[in-house]
Amino acid sequence: MTPSRSSTATRAAKIREILFRTYPNATCALAHRNAFELAVATILSAQCTDERVNIVTRTLFKKYASPSAFAHADLAVLELDIRPTGFYRNKARSIQGFAKAIIEQFGGEVPADMDALVKLPGVGRKTANVILGTAFGIAEGVVVDTHVARLSQRMGLTEAEDPEHIERDLMTIIPRENWIAFSHAMILHGRALCGARKAHCDECPLAEPCPKIGVR
Ligand code: SF4
Repeated sequence: MTPSRSSTATRAAKIREILFRTYPNATCALAHRNAFELAVATILSAQCTDERVNIVTRTLFKKYASPSAFAHADLAVLELDIRPTGFYRNKARSIQGFAKAIIEQFGGEVPADMDALVKLPGVGRKTANVILGTAFGIAEGVVVDTHVARLSQRMGLTEAEDPEHIERDLMTIIPRENWIAFSHAMILHGRALCGARKAHCDECPLAEPCPKIGVR
């Protein structure tokens, strides 16, 4: 049976409260010094762990210290530099296209604007939400990565499969002032206990409100 909107909202409030108590300092795990580096790290994080991205960017951001350095890089060399993150050809093209676009259109500054961000190479709504939320403190939406998607479904906060629909569902049941912290806490919880391969429900502080949908 599909849960009513009010019961879902009540459960969402309980889940939010427990998550924030459990992960009071949840924040973005991608190392960066500014919005541009965060954008590059987020592009690199597709299908890759944050730990591996941080290892790669430790040297990458020393070698390419500005948008201009990425824009003028030899693409084949940049590909090799980011190769450990996987899908390196597409990612190198996206990063270079992103760097060129912000130089040409925004004087080298990353725009703090959703409509502008999603038109830039390599930037979808998830990446734009990461940049806006973490670099600028702007809650324009909820970051829906693989952890947030999986946990939202297991917790019965959405029945949707696609990230944009999941995000819309979360935006209706989570207060806007919590959007940024909520996704950070969900990502930490996905890593800690509610993994893709195994959910550790016996040890989980959310076991009471969570309906554990699809968990075997
Ligand atoms: S109770 Fe189980 S399914 Fe629900 S959040 Fe915790 S680990 Fe995940």
